[in-house]
Amino acid sequence: MVRITVWNESEHKGKAYPDGMSRAIKEGLDLNDGFEVVCAYLDEDQQGLPDALLNETDVLIWWGHSKHEKVRDDLVEKIIKRVNEGMGIIFLHSAHFSKAFRKLMGTHCSLRWREKEGEAERIWTVDPYHPIARGVEQGFRLDGDEMYGEHFDIPTPDALVFIGWFSGGNVFRSGCTFTRGQGRIFYFQPGHETFPIFYDENIRQIMENACLWAAKKDEGTTDFEANPKCIHERVPLEEICPKTKKKFFGI
Ligand code: ZN
Repeated sequence: MVRITVWNESEHKGKAYPDGMSRAIKEGLDLNDGFEVVCAYLDEDQQGLPDALLNETDVLIWWGHSKHEKVRDDLVEKIIKRVNEGMGIIFLHSAHFSKAFRKLMGTHCSLRWREKEGEAERIWTVDPYHPIARGVEQGFRLDGDEMYGEHFDIPTPDALVFIGWFSGGNVFRSGCTFTRGQGRIFYFQPGHETFPIFYDENIRQIMENACLWAAKKDEGTTDFEANPKCIHERVPLEEICPKTKKKFFGI
């Protein structure tokens, strides 16, 4: 059994998540019978993570945005200690600026962003042998997401599993792994609260894979087989800018 705690600043109920965002994350993970998932929130006793719960958590999922500074420093220290002792941790989206992530990375963790447009994103698997990539459709599309773009000020990841491409032109290291002490860390970029991405099949697959990997329950590589030939992509996935066509081909 993998004991997972989904921590959030609040439930973020809204158009995208009528029952709440953490509930959507939990609903996806609950599909795996081997997972025991609980939700925890900042306004609860001990900021949602009393020692009894933190010490029994195999994988902590962390979502934060506007209340990073409200998280107590002693709690951050306890989380980092647990990571060093072997607890897995998954930082989602704007958790790149959480106290725990920045401390674990040791860098500023800044990035570019653009939210209001709700542009399309494609998630490309660049490490198809990694367990977190198992069963994930190559280059799958999210119709609306907040853009996060390079440069992302993090140390070089142990593995870069996914790269995000945005229709506004930016790219981002959207799925990165790290280890600190005995603990495994996964940073995953999608997940702004106004876009319902935690209902997406591929996102749910990644979240399940990431929990198994972070809990050290999935040690093997995936069954991906490389294609020895070049793959000629005749049909583009997105519409190519008409101006470019005209300039180079006169169409
Ligand atoms: Zn956001």
